Amino acid sequence: MTLIRFRASPEQDVDLSRTYDAVVVGSGAAGGMAAHVLTSQGMKVLLLEAGKKIDINSELRSMQWPYDHPRRGDAPPGSHAIRFNEYNIRKPPYAKGSAFKHVFSYVGGWGGSDYVKNILVDEKDNPYTGTKYAWVRARLLGGKTNIWGRLALRLSDYDFKGKTHDGYGEDWPISYADIEPYYDKVDLYLGISGHKENLPHLPDSLFQRPNKLTASEVKLRKSLATMNRTVTPYRAGVTTDGVKNKYRSKCFGRGACGRRPGGCDIHAAFDSPTGLIYPAMDTGNLTLRTNSTAHEVLVDPNTGKARGVSFVDSVNHKTYEARAKVVIVAASTLESARLLLLSKSRQHPNGIGNSSGHVGHNFCEHIMGPGIAGRAKDLVGKAPTLDDGRPGGFYLTRFRNLAEKHPKFIRGYGFEGGSGSTMFPRGTDTHGFGADFKQEVRKNQGAFIGMGGFGEVLARYENFVELDPAVKDKWGIPSLRFHYKFGDNEHRMAEDMKETAQEMFEAAGFEIVHVNSRVLTEGWSIHELGTARMGNDPKTSVLNQFEQSHDVKNLFVVDGSAFVNASCQNPTWTIMALCWRSCDYLADQLGKGNL
Ligand SMILES: Cc1cc2nc3c(=O)[nH]c(=O)nc-3n(C[C@H](O)[C@H](O)[C@H](O)COP(=O)(O)OP(=O)(O)OC[C@H]3O[C@@H](n4cnc5c(N)ncnc54)[C@H](O)[C@@H]3O)c2cc1C
Ligand code: SF4
Repeated sequence: MTLIRFRASPEQDVDLSRTYDAVVVGSGAAGGMAAHVLTSQGMKVLLLEAGKKIDINSELRSMQWPYDHPRRGDAPPGSHAIRFNEYNIRKPPYAKGSAFKHVFSYVGGWGGSDYVKNILVDEKDNPYTGTKYAWVRARLLGGKTNIWGRLALRLSDYDFKGKTHDGYGEDWPISYADIEPYYDKVDLYLGISGHKENLPHLPDSLFQRPNKLTASEVKLRKSLATMNRTVTPYRAGVTTDGVKNKYRSKCFGRGACGRRPGGCDIHAAFDSPTGLIYPAMDTGNLTLRTNSTAHEVLVDPNTGKARGVSFVDSVNHKTYEARAKVVIVAASTLESARLLLLSKSRQHPNGIGNSSGHVGHNFCEHIMGPGIAGRAKDLVGKAPTLDDGRPGGFYLTRFRNLAEKHPKFIRGYGFEGGSGSTMFPRGTDTHGFGADFKQEVRKNQGAFIGMGGFGEVLARYENFVELDPAVKDKWGIPSLRFHYKFGDNEHRMAEDMKETAQEMFEAAGFEIVHVNSRVLTEGWSIHELGTARMGNDPKTSVLNQFEQSHDVKNLFVVDGSAFVNASCQNPTWTIMALCWRSCDYLADQLGKGNL
């Protein structure tokens, strides 16, 4: 089969002498969605992206075999990926004093990967300080969506109305009914694969063809059904039936997106450039400027409203200004908080949009680590099956604190897992030497099954980021200082994850090979959220229900920073649905002259 590749429309010239309808900062899931929604409504949009535009297909080389790479995918000499122990023994900035020329966050595995060296930020150029935190940043067109894990889940009213349910924190100013039509729009525009389950705590999407569960996953599903728990095929932000988008193909089921190079060179898996930005460029309404790091939202001294953005060119280090009627911040949760805090003026002395003092606070994410590996004994020695030709394994949905109340913690967690025969055999417990070892691997590999938990970290005011008074990045922009750690609720939840994982594998009849109780470093989930939360009260929240600043009506913050709590579901689909809703409102209000 031949894939016809289309080039994106030629880039428009950047004209910094004009006033755009909107300037969008950041081109990941949030910024890409803002660009798509606004340009499709005829608005002239300037998109500023701090990173460069790279040829992602040749960068990721999705289909490259390990032996086709001179170092089997490892990063070049002189590069280093921070390891688990370093994150915990040392304190940020992790790259300070490192003998390595380039230092990257942990993503890519095995001590550094060649495939992400131009995608992740170099920690040497981009330091942060404070408490330990594994902060993963991708700086390029499309941000982290170029390498994301594709699990695309909805939130429910158990999340939006968490306080009503258990008394903790704040409710969101919206309910599921408000966002449901926008989840539908995202599903239809981008494509999502999955299986309907009719669960009130994990609403179904408008699914395209689901991936098949393997034999052991079916076994787990059947066994858990008797405990009223659900194992469902991975809900993947992947189009399996195709979407109307000439830059993307439907999934061929090669499983490449789950291997070390990652990514999907036919873009069946959603990424912001092919899914959102190139189609937005085709409207003729989008102007893109890469290598442009915003460091201040500029304010009209007379009105206090936003008038544009000041940015530094990452290559020539010169500073420029972009003017717009509306400023949309979508730089990712922590970078957006940083930008708001950096934007101090007479009218906004604590940073723009920060009269509540909540910018940077209520920072939350997911706790990870506890998990399990097991073996379906009846599959040992069976002929191999093609199990990795799919963009994900399974998802075991939340079951805690729904109808019943757990005595030790509030909120919930889910598990992501996989199993079966794959191109790279699984198995942590295969012994032997030489030919015997190979035989053991062949005999056992299809029988392994494993899963790991993702749990809600409670939003707490005391977990926050602020500007470091002394440390700056390579471009002279003040860095973030972290004050963040897991609390008792998270640790008790992690303990429960380990116990229930064991209980469920035993119930399914799996032999337990390994139980992991180690909690991974704060930040490991790469799901940071909540630093400019929405709410009805301007004293305790930063944004209203349309992600519009309470203080500055032509300023919107449309990424994960708007979340009120983290839930335990992965956030990207919700970020995009909320952003679509906010941009519809924005376009309407701009048209009415209300901004
Ligand atoms: C390995 C990995 C696996 C993941 N798996 C999943 C998953 O399975 N499911 C899920 O829901 N989520 C997953 N995520 C998280 C997901 O990628 C993010 O939720 C999503 O990308 C957030 O979108 P965003 O637009 O807020 O941020 P990003 O995608 O990070 O985009 C932000 C963009 O803003 C740019 N930027 C930053 N600062 C500035 C500035 N000052 N000026 C201009 N531009 C700026 C950045 O360069 C970047 O391009 C994963 C992430 C990673 C890395
Ligand atoms: S399995 Fe599908 S989404 Fe994943 S790389 Fe292959 S074609 Fe792309």
